[in-house]
Amino acid sequence: MSVIPESNVDVLIVGAGPAGLMMATWMAKCGINARIVDKRGTKIFNGQADGLQCRTLEILDSLGFGHRAWREANHMLEICLWNPDENGIIRRSDRIPDTIPGISRFQQVVLHQGRIERFFLDSIAEASDIRVERGVMPSSLKIDESAVEDDAAYPITVTLRHLSEEEATPKQSSTSANGQSVQDGLFRSNLAKDDTQDLLDAAKINAKANSEEVIHAKYMIGADGAHSWTRNQIGLKLEGDSTDYIWGVLDIVPITDFPDIRMRCAIHSADCGSIMVIPRENKLVRLYIQLTTTSKNGDNSGRADRSKINPQMILESAQRILAPYKITYRKLDWWTAYQIGQRVGTSFSVHERVFLAGDAVHTHSPKAGQGMNVSMQDSFNLGWKIASVVKGHAHRSILKTYQSERRRIAQDLIAFDHKFSRLFSGRPAKDVMDAEGISMEEFKAAFEKGNMFASGIAVNYGASAIVAKEGSSEEQGDGTDVSVANAKHRVISDQSLCSGITVGMRIPSHKVLSQADARPWHLHEVLPSNGRWRVIVFAGNTNDDRQRDKLGKLSEVFSAPNSFLNLYTPKGARYDEVFEVLLVHKAPRQSVTVLDFPEVFRPYDEVDGWDYNKIFVDEVSYHEGFGDIYGALGIPQDGCIVIVRPDQYVSYVGSMEEPAAVNSFFAGFMKEQHAKDEAPTNGTKV
Ligand SMILES: Cc1cc2nc3c(=O)[nH]c(=O)nc-3n(C[C@H](O)[C@H](O)[C@H](O)COP(=O)(O)OP(=O)(O)OC[C@H]3O[C@@H](n4cnc5c(N)ncnc54)[C@H](O)[C@@H]3O)c2cc1C
Repeated sequence: MSVIPESNVDVLIVGAGPAGLMMATWMAKCGINARIVDKRGTKIFNGQADGLQCRTLEILDSLGFGHRAWREANHMLEICLWNPDENGIIRRSDRIPDTIPGISRFQQVVLHQGRIERFFLDSIAEASDIRVERGVMPSSLKIDESAVEDDAAYPITVTLRHLSEEEATPKQSSTSANGQSVQDGLFRSNLAKDDTQDLLDAAKINAKANSEEVIHAKYMIGADGAHSWTRNQIGLKLEGDSTDYIWGVLDIVPITDFPDIRMRCAIHSADCGSIMVIPRENKLVRLYIQLTTTSKNGDNSGRADRSKINPQMILESAQRILAPYKITYRKLDWWTAYQIGQRVGTSFSVHERVFLAGDAVHTHSPKAGQGMNVSMQDSFNLGWKIASVVKGHAHRSILKTYQSERRRIAQDLIAFDHKFSRLFSGRPAKDVMDAEGISMEEFKAAFEKGNMFASGIAVNYGASAIVAKEGSSEEQGDGTDVSVANAKHRVISDQSLCSGITVGMRIPSHKVLSQADARPWHLHEVLPSNGRWRVIVFAGNTNDDRQRDKLGKLSEVFSAPNSFLNLYTPKGARYDEVFEVLLVHKAPRQSVTVLDFPEVFRPYDEVDGWDYNKIFVDEVSYHEGFGDIYGALGIPQDGCIVIVRPDQYVSYVGSMEEPAAVNSFFAGFMKEQHAKDEAPTNGTKV
């Protein structure tokens, strides 16, 4: 009898969609021993989700490939609202900016999910040996509950089965549209770029077909989509609507006389329903229609019969809504009848060992363009936390904040989706007396408000051990208690110090100049996603005696043997392995040099010399204007200290005169790496 191979891995990721790939990217960037498996034989090549919100682009940029998405994507700048006039004919009633001006350096764009997955795969390959193992799926999962609190244990045991090529190929229903034979869902596009390497990799699947192996893992992430196998194994449920909605989605190159076809449009017809028009890359346009008039199944399940839907039916529906304008196509890239309910998981993990992310733990309609975004942002929230626990930097307690932060977001999203669905799909009111109809003013107001929510920028995480703000962690999150275990380490920010930096939200980005070489950088560009915490000292004008004195005292506290830097940086590690201490001052750049500032802001390495990349100045650049970060963020002339998490969310804002609060904050959840009387390792000059 053959022996089933067994091995250990720190993190096992099931599912290589956007949520799983984001997790794998964190693991790659943080050097974690991880594996990622997907039951499908290939990545997707087109179709599915397409909207990338501002915050997602900021995140992709922090991972090093935002520019690829930004360049390839179609940029959506304006939304046109079309409604019936008094004669029932659709007319453009409003234009609003798609992205609220000024909230981010990126604006909402659209690019199909297959390309986003490609960028992730390239980034993972560049940073690590992790590769998506395709045609592989788990067949059993056991958790040793007696070992879940033991940091060194591998309490999760998973049997993986390698599939045959036939098993790994998704079944598709072929249909004929306008003389073309096109399959539903996952098929290769004529318009999307070819991914030959994926096909070659897929061809290798058979080598191990039908074999099994056993994996022992410290942590497991079920990013295996809406029908999550992992969720079922750990007995977690989705709660919410009992009914599903069906969306007809058609990606076509349209031939039309509708004048706003290259704008994002929300169109309400008088009697024929509503349509969302999304202009895409490569002259494509996506049409979204909520299908409410399909026949029901004979089995009384109350569900519309998805198998009866085809591209012709979706097109005819679009033609009725857009009349008197005409629309047809010769090129159909992808289509689907996408069936989805509005639901959220009762819990996002068991024992903070097996986690769910993305569609596995929340589902909602596609029209707000949130599916891919929220899914990626789940694992963007979780990845660095798992990495810092696996590396022994942080206590396991921080893992609870994943559920507290992300389940709350999912709940907010479902509430938003409910409201938006009603307004989008309802019949427009004929006049003010038509109480059954939807007021178009209300729709526009909801759209504008929804834009802030949908951008992802509005995310504001509640109080916890890693977000030092006032109030109850249970009330501000999903009900989970994520407060600091030891009350003596509870630190509360002074939010009044700085109006433009909100504790719990991502730090906004403005341009600053490098003190060393005068190059302008967006603040976010110097906060890449590599697992490091940042302590940013906005020191004001350091030529002022008072500010210089405060900075000197602060530096002594940060450099002392019992400082966060020295207690929580592993022995022998690079000085900024865990924390980067950055300075943004306001003294005239030419009146000072890097060497005038305390060594904690320009650590010394025996091989590389001084670090010149941690001191910045708020000043006019030669070629790119003035960022005015102090003015834009309301930073006082007295300065302040800001702690920024590895995912760019703000943990703490406090006075420069209370640097010891930074030590207390990190004492709440970091693990001591040194004896307290050991010499400092940071900024030590030869
Ligand atoms: C057919 C379809 C059409 C869609 N259309 C739209 C749309 O028009 N607009 C929009 O915004 N969103 C759309 N979505 C939703 C959007 O694609 C998702 O919100 C987003 O992909 C969620 O990312 P995820 O990583 O959580 O899950 P997914 O992208 O679903 O990825 C899950 C991955 O897990 C793998 N997997 C599943 N089970 C297992 C298992 N047991 N073992 C191993 N691997 C497994 C799957 O093969 C898949 O690669 C659509 C989704 C689908 C399926």
